[in-house]
Amino acid sequence: MVDNTAAAWAEIEAISDNVRRALECPICLQLAPNMTCPCPNGHPMCHTCADMMSNQNVMQKCPMCRSPIFGNDGTLAFVTAIKFDQIKASLRMACAHRRYGCNELTAIPDMIDHEQFCRYKPTVYCKVSGCQWLGVHDQLFGHVLDVHPAVVIDTACTSLIVEDVNNIAQNRRRTYLVRAPHGVFWVLLSRASRNRIHTAVAVVIRNKLPTEANCGQPLDIRYRIMWVDANGYTRGRNRLQTVNRWVTGPQYRDSNGVVKLDIHSIVRSQSGRIKIGWFASPSV
Ligand SMILES: [Zn+2]
Ligand SMILES: [Zn+2]
Ligand SMILES: [Zn+2]
Ligand SMILES: [Zn+2]
Repeated sequence: MVDNTAAAWAEIEAISDNVRRALECPICLQLAPNMTCPCPNGHPMCHTCADMMSNQNVMQKCPMCRSPIFGNDGTLAFVTAIKFDQIKASLRMACAHRRYGCNELTAIPDMIDHEQFCRYKPTVYCKVSGCQWLGVHDQLFGHVLDVHPAVVIDTACTSLIVEDVNNIAQNRRRTYLVRAPHGVFWVLLSRASRNRIHTAVAVVIRNKLPTEANCGQPLDIRYRIMWVDANGYTRGRNRLQTVNRWVTGPQYRDSNGVVKLDIHSIVRSQSGRIKIGWFASPSV
């Protein structure tokens, strides 16, 4: 990884030396981007050296292997392919996901694997209705805070109280993004019928690298949904649910882009408040 100017220059100098060696005329040792190759054994040379040899009135021999040489570029395509391989092997490329924060430089043959498992491969979708944002885990909270500040719940508490349950209209999804000590997770609410609210809670996880045992998600999170009446009394509660580990990506959406989740319902929710409490327990 190039993380400072000195390291970047060391990288550029090493690449430059390798490319120069690959494109150097073996006779005059000058950099020769356009070579000719009259030797049947594939020894290239610069045009200046080739012209000087052809102006001498002696039997023309390759200075590298002493073979008689032709007057044409019989093996140039072959040599060009070898030079291309040498240059390719000396280069490292920037990752396609660099605008999402990746600053890895990777050898060209390894790049396909790197980009497939890159930590900065954008796989996290914004779940707010109508939003097309796609990015990486660490950028999600900032995006939602910028664009949909009304849905952000940034809290050290372990519960979320939704006051205006009456205002959740039929077939209209209500979305919250909660940043709690346990992680960042979505809370989705929608009205299934007059007396029934659907809820779902889903943790946003980091991309898992092949070498990592978990996703930087040290805790299992479970939650319970309660209906609280206007006087603060608990009128109904669900059993404890395990949070859906939201492995982000379009494969978790149906053809309409709707998120498929385990939906848990709570009844008697036509008025009052819903309280969602979450609990963390160490992973096993
Ligand atoms: Zn030369
Ligand atoms: Zn030769
Ligand atoms: Zn990358
Ligand atoms: Zn969004």
